[in-house]
Amino acid sequence: MTDHYNVISKQSAQNKRIVMRVDFNVPMQDGKILDDTRIKRVIPGIKTLLECSKQLILVTHLGRPKGNVDNTLSSQPLQEYLSEAVSMPVRFIAHIEDSSQLLEAVDSHDKICLLENCRFYAGEEQNDQNLARAYASLADIYVNDAFSCSHRSHASIQAITGFLPSYAGPVLAVELTALSDALESPKRPVAAFVGGAKISTKLSVLENLISKVDKLLLAGAMANTFLAARQVPVAASLYEPDLIPTAKTILELAQQQGCKIILPVDGVVSTKLEKGGRFHTRLNGALEDNEMILDIGPASVALFKEHIKDCKTLLWNGPAGAFEIAPYDEASKSLGAFIGMRTRNGQLISVAGGGDTVAAVNLAGVADELTYVSLAGGAFLEWIEGKSLPGIEALHS
Ligand code: ADP
Ligand code: MG
Repeated sequence: MTDHYNVISKQSAQNKRIVMRVDFNVPMQDGKILDDTRIKRVIPGIKTLLECSKQLILVTHLGRPKGNVDNTLSSQPLQEYLSEAVSMPVRFIAHIEDSSQLLEAVDSHDKICLLENCRFYAGEEQNDQNLARAYASLADIYVNDAFSCSHRSHASIQAITGFLPSYAGPVLAVELTALSDALESPKRPVAAFVGGAKISTKLSVLENLISKVDKLLLAGAMANTFLAARQVPVAASLYEPDLIPTAKTILELAQQQGCKIILPVDGVVSTKLEKGGRFHTRLNGALEDNEMILDIGPASVALFKEHIKDCKTLLWNGPAGAFEIAPYDEASKSLGAFIGMRTRNGQLISVAGGGDTVAAVNLAGVADELTYVSLAGGAFLEWIEGKSLPGIEALHS
C-alpha cells in the first residue's frame, strides 16, 4: 500500500510551508488536557518537520461543534501544551476565514501555528472547496497525519488534497504499514480476535475478516449470538435474537472460505452486572435461566491461547467481556498479557484497535508490547470492514 502514496520526508519538507492535519481531539476539561496520548504520538514528527520546513501550520478538530463557534471547544488551550512540547512559541490563529489574520500568520516568523478548531466552519464537514482553498493558501504542501479522521470526506482531510502536493504524515504512514501487515499481507497463519457488545455494530467487520483471516476467535457479548445460533442456550445474556440467522450465514460463509471460527466453551456468569456481585464459571449449556455470560471463562481463555500460539499475526478488536467491571475483565487481561508476551518474544505480530479495546489493552498493561495499537476508533473499524478511506484515497498519487 505504501507505494501508492508519498510519505513526507526531510527532503520534501525542506524549506516548505506545510499545512498539516492532526487529530488533537483529546478529552479536555476546563481547558486542561485529560489524556494526551494522541498528541504525544505526533510530537516527534512535528519536531522533525520543524527542523527542516519553513513553517508548520497545524489543523485539528475538537469535539462536535457542527459548524458553529463553541468556545468550550476552542483549540486555543492546546497552544501552551504544544509550545512546551516543541520548546518554541506557537502562534494561535483564531479566524481562518479572516484573510488579514491568515496573511499575518503566513508572513510571521513563527515557525509553528495552530489554527482554531476546523469544525467551527460549516465548510469543514461539507468538504467545501473554498475552505480547503483557504487552508491551502497558507502553505506549499499538505500533510495528513490524522489516520483517525481519514474516514471522513472533510475539507482539511480530502478537499485540500486537490490544491496542494499531498503527503502522508509519519504517524499515519506507520499506522498504514502496521494495518497492512496485519490484514493485507500478513505472515500466516493470521487470526482475528473479535469481542465487544453487539454483532449488529460489527457485521461488516466479521464479513470482511472471514475472507481474510485463517481463524476468527469470537468473544464478548457478540459471541453469545453465535452460541445461540449453534443452539447453545445463553439464558439472560446480552445477545441479538434477530441476528441468529445472520450469525448462521456468517458461520456457513466462514466454512466455505476456509476460515475457522472459534467460540467460547465456558463463561463467567452472574445474575447482575455489578461490582462485588456473586459470579460463577459455567460450561456452555450449564447456565441458570436468570444468569448472563459476562466474560469468557478460563477454559475459553486457554483454548484461545492455543489458537493464538499457532498464529504469526493477530488482529484484536473488542474486549472479551464486560471488562469495565471486575472480575469480568479477567479474560481480556489474561489474553492481553499473553498477546503482549508472544509479541515481545518475536513470535507474534499483533495489532489492536477500537475505543474500548484500547482501554482493555491499557488495563492489561501491554500497550507498549503490542506491535501496534491504533487509537483511530471509527477509522480503524472502517478499515477492518475493508472500506476505502477517503482521506487515504486522496493521498494516492
Ligand atoms: P470497541 O470500542 O473496542 O470496538 P465494542 O464497543 O464493540 O469495542 O465493545 C465493548 C463493549 O462490549 C464494552 O462496553 C463491554 O462491556 C461490552 N461487552 C463485552 N462483553 C460483554 C458481555 N459478555 N456482556 C455485556 N457486555 C459486554
Ligand atoms: Mg466501543
